Amino acid sequence: TEHQRTALITGANRGIGKEIARQLAQRGFAVFIGARDIVKGREAAEELCQAGFEATFIQLDVTDPVSIRTACGTFSQKADHLDVLINNAGILEDHGENILKLNPEMLDRTLKANVTGPIMVIQDFLQMLQKSKTGGRIVNVSSGVSSLAHMTTYAPAYSISKTALNAVTKQFAGALTEHNIAVNCVDPGWVRTDMGGPSASRPVEKGAETIVWLATDAPQSATGKFWRDKQEVEW
Ligand code: NDP
Repeated sequence: TEHQRTALITGANRGIGKEIARQLAQRGFAVFIGARDIVKGREAAEELCQAGFEATFIQLDVTDPVSIRTACGTFSQKADHLDVLINNAGILEDHGENILKLNPEMLDRTLKANVTGPIMVIQDFLQMLQKSKTGGRIVNVSSGVSSLAHMTTYAPAYSISKTALNAVTKQFAGALTEHNIAVNCVDPGWVRTDMGGPSASRPVEKGAETIVWLATDAPQSATGKFWRDKQEVEW
């Protein structure tokens, strides 16, 4: 319907992204499952539809400008506004190398997926976010290892990319304040997914919790901040 809230989640075919989509659908959003793989994306959307929710697959590879542009065109044929954009898609390719041996091509791939991707997705979907009646919300899924304040030596390319994503969050928050679009980033904690592995402390339900809160119940005035467990944290 005209006034139904809409959400687009990137990398929503598995892991935290899939759970974010489920929780938002449960709250009555029409969710758009962004996924680069057609088969996996359709499957995830189908699963939600079978559970009685409204879910639509949108093919979206965040590293490919043409794919993003096409996804935006497809989206605007199916909805007339976007209330929530979750930049969840991300990669972790480091294999224990330290910065002295960092593979520059791996760094480039990581920055492309985790930083340039979200920037391009926000740029292209901005028009649709501006049509939100409730004020648009953008949530960037970051990580605890983004933090310069709590510096650890962990996966340098990935850490650098998430620190940059926090900086990107602040930049967009500043640029979009006048447009009433809130932009925040989140540390979901260590979550049991393909990326987090089986020993991770949190189930996906907990990992998605603060992200969904920022997309829905958090005050619209909260913007440009880094969050963990519904608390602003220094980074
Ligand atoms: P997963 O590896 O389980 O899922 C990653 C998702 O991102 C997949 O759907 C994957 O799609 C998608 N993706 C990767 N590259 C692209 C691309 N170029 N275009 C579109 N989609 C893409 O990871 P998680 O669910 O654990 O992670 C989700 C987010 O949370 C990431 O940003 C991650 O950095 C962050 N995070 C995770 C933590 C954890 O402990 N799990 C901790 C802190 C942060 P495909 O299936 O096609 O590969």
